[in-house]
Order: sequence, then C-alpha cells, then structure tokens
Amino acid sequence: MATEAQTLSRKRQRRLEEFIAPFRVAPGTKVTLAKDFDPAFKGGLNKKKEGVALLDEGVQLLAEYQARLAAQDTWGVLLALQALDAAGKDGTIRHVMSGVNPQGVAVHSFKVPSSEELDHDYLWRYARRLPARGEIGIFNRSHYEEVLVVRVHPDLLDRQKLPPRTKKGDIWKRRYRDINEWERHLTDNGFRVVKIFLNLSREEQRTRFLRRIDLPDHNWKFSSADVAERGHWDEYQKAFSEMLSHTSTEWAPWYVIPADRKWFARISAACVLVKALIDIDPRYPTVTKKQRDALQEIKRTLEAQAPKGAAPDPFEASGEAPAAHEHEHAATGGNGHPG
Ligand code: AMP
Ligand code: MG
Repeated sequence: MATEAQTLSRKRQRRLEEFIAPFRVAPGTKVTLAKDFDPAFKGGLNKKKEGVALLDEGVQLLAEYQARLAAQDTWGVLLALQALDAAGKDGTIRHVMSGVNPQGVAVHSFKVPSSEELDHDYLWRYARRLPARGEIGIFNRSHYEEVLVVRVHPDLLDRQKLPPRTKKGDIWKRRYRDINEWERHLTDNGFRVVKIFLNLSREEQRTRFLRRIDLPDHNWKFSSADVAERGHWDEYQKAFSEMLSHTSTEWAPWYVIPADRKWFARISAACVLVKALIDIDPRYPTVTKKQRDALQEIKRTLEAQAPKGAAPDPFEASGEAPAAHEHEHAATGGNGHPG
C-alpha cells in the first residue's frame, strides 16, 4: 500500500505535470515566439496568493529532492536559464533556490567571454562549469548565448578566432547540432539538462527598465547596453524562435515560461525543476546487510572505549532516538564513506 507521502507526491506530481505542459516546446516543432507563446499567460492561477502557496510547496519539494540527489551522488542537474534583459533571471534563481542547501547548488553567470575563453572552442567555458554528480548547477545565461547574442552581433563571432573554413555554410545549424549532441552526451552520462526561457513582452521590458531608472536602489541594475540590445528586439525574437525550434529535444526540451508576472515565472520555473527531479527520483543510499554488520562491529569497538562512568552508548541508554540527520549519516556512512 502506498504511504500517505507517496500518494500525496503522486497527486502533486500530476498537478505539476499539467501545470507545466503548456510551456514545453515539443521537439521538432517550428516555433514563432510572438505567435506561439504569450508572455502574460497565467494559466490556471488567477491570484498571486494561490501562486505564493504553490511556490512555497515547490521550494519545499526542491529542498527534499536536492537532499536526496546529493546523498545518492549519481545524477547531476544542469539548469540553463535564458531570457531577454529584465526578464527576471536573478530573482527567479533567488526565489526558486531559497530553500535548498547551498552546498548542493552552484550558480554560474556567463558574461562577455574573456580572452582565455576566446582561445578555446565555444563550449569550453560552459563545460568547465558543469555540475558534479549530486549537484544542481545553474547557468545564468548559458551556452545558448552562442546562438543568440553571437548571432545577433556578427562581430562577436569574428572575435571567436575561428578558422575561416569553419565559418562556411550554415554555422548556426551546426551549432544547434553540436549543442544537441553535447546535451545528449551529458544526459546519457547522468546529467539531466533542464532549459528554461523566460519570455518577456516588449512593453513589460520597457516598464521594468523605467523602474530601474526611477528607483535609486535599482539604478545599478540598469545598463545603457540593455537599451541598445532592446533596439535589436526583432532580431532577438527571431534568434530565440530559431533556437527553440532547433534545440528542443526529447532528452532536453525547452520550457518557455511567461515572464510578464514575476511571481508566475518563479512558480513555473520551480515546477519545471521539480519535475526533472521527480523524473530522476533520487533515493538515499540503502545499507546492505554486510555494511550493517560492519557498523555493528565498529559500534562494539566504540562502546568498549567508554570512559569509566559513561554510558557505552548514550543513545541506547537514554532510549532517545538520534536526530533524523544522524540517521542519514549512518546510512551514507555505510556507503563506504565513514565519518
Ligand atoms: P549581464 O547578464 O547583465 O551581467 O550581462 C552579461 C552580458 O554578457 C550580456 O550583455 C550578454 O549578452 C553578454 N554575453 C554573455 N555570453 C556571451 C557570449 N558568449 N558572447 C558575447 N557576449 C556574451
Ligand atoms: Mg544586464
């Protein structure tokens, strides 16, 4: 019989799946961003209040799953976050990851490449920042910049020092293929790639830029470069549409999340990440009979070392169960990593 927790999680799971289904880009479909995805969509949720409760639930679930992912130490998760300026990447990361153990998460922000980075192939700098097994890695901007900003600004491609003949033909199609194959390789080796695009409307971006100018505390976030990029709006929309059309795969599909409402974007991103973890279903390592016997042997040795007057095993003496986290230590300790 399913325990209450399992039943609950199956119910939650179904709700989650239904909630994120409209955001998933079906592999092989041709996407036209403006026509296919509405930045103001808030499907299912009418009030921010409902959303806040759901976000709390999502954050709590993430914390649970992340602890198990780390303990199992087998799978890693890479979350690639892409968006236009002011779409809310930073706030999404802050809120979604608010409940997880910082030891299990690494966030990397990718900016204009350094000269060392330009001296390597274009995926090198991203590969160096991949999560380890048991970790969640977040890319704040990602390898997808290589088919976005670099596509919109051809001078950036020139700076990449590519041999001329590697630029012949359709370099973007080749990059989509490279990226798809790279992500397939990662997936096949135990690294789940989760891709989120925060889809902001042009008018909402304008409003958010004005807010950054009007509120002194927000001035630091405003960069005149962002306004210059806004001038390339249509080219970006086209580059995003092409990226979504060519790189949403069965092993690493894109999720296009409506970002005009920050609270809705945060919930949706949390749900997409939780869903990936549910699919992985990480478990705490179990202890074999042999490992249990070995632990008992060690226990006897430790008990024999009790100083005069001390209980050989204070937990047994008090009849008090050790705290939950000590149970976990015992379980992982049996996995070949004592202490
Ligand atoms: P921000 O995220 O506001 O700190 O800005 C980072 C800047 O780095 C943005 O303007 C990006 O377009 C730019 N950037 C990120 N990746 C690349 C790349 N591969 N090539 C050129 N510029 C990039
Ligand atoms: Mg910026």
